[in-house]
Amino acid sequence: MRAYVAVGSNLGDRWGRLAQAARALRAAPGVAVVRGSRVWDAAPVGPPQPRYLNAVLELETTRTPGSLLALLRQVEQAAGRTRDVHWGARTLDLDLLLFGDLTVREPGLTVPHPGMESRRFVLAPLAELHPELVVPGTGLRVWRLLEESPELDLEPVGGYPL
Ligand code: ATP
Ligand code: CA
Ligand code: CA
Repeated sequence: MRAYVAVGSNLGDRWGRLAQAARALRAAPGVAVVRGSRVWDAAPVGPPQPRYLNAVLELETTRTPGSLLALLRQVEQAAGRTRDVHWGARTLDLDLLLFGDLTVREPGLTVPHPGMESRRFVLAPLAELHPELVVPGTGLRVWRLLEESPELDLEPVGGYPL
């Protein structure tokens, strides 16, 4: 199944954390990293905190959504994510955006990822990979959602360190 994962970091070696995330996912059983978006430097949303690097990874996986989420948590923890304040600063945040055209609503796992349809720091990198993809539940394509999303201070700063 094709899956898209949002990668974010705003603490410590942000570029290193992005590279580490791609390496760890590639090394995990049942996951291939197909490609990455560019890396975007974005103003934080939520409480005052440092700026983020944001990107999206396209994965091909034989895992279930729940098993993929468990892996994302492991990789976050390996990257030193100890503090887990909602919307607060973090070394690494991995969100499961999309899993094929599946809709999942389980305790602890919602797909598409809640809020992705209006977050420019997610839609801009996702649009580089798959602008025509229709986001389940919205009936709209990624490029269209990007067009309609609220303005945010963000700019591309380089390629994904794969
Ligand atoms: P946001 O989810 O709004 O981007 P956040 O990333 O800061 O905020 P976290 O503290 O990382 O939030 O995660 C909060 C909870 O979201 C986690 O306990 C996780 O189980 C749950 N969750 C539900 N759906 C998903 C998903 N698709 N991807 C990642 N986490 C999810
Ligand atoms: Ca997040
Ligand atoms: Ca998260």
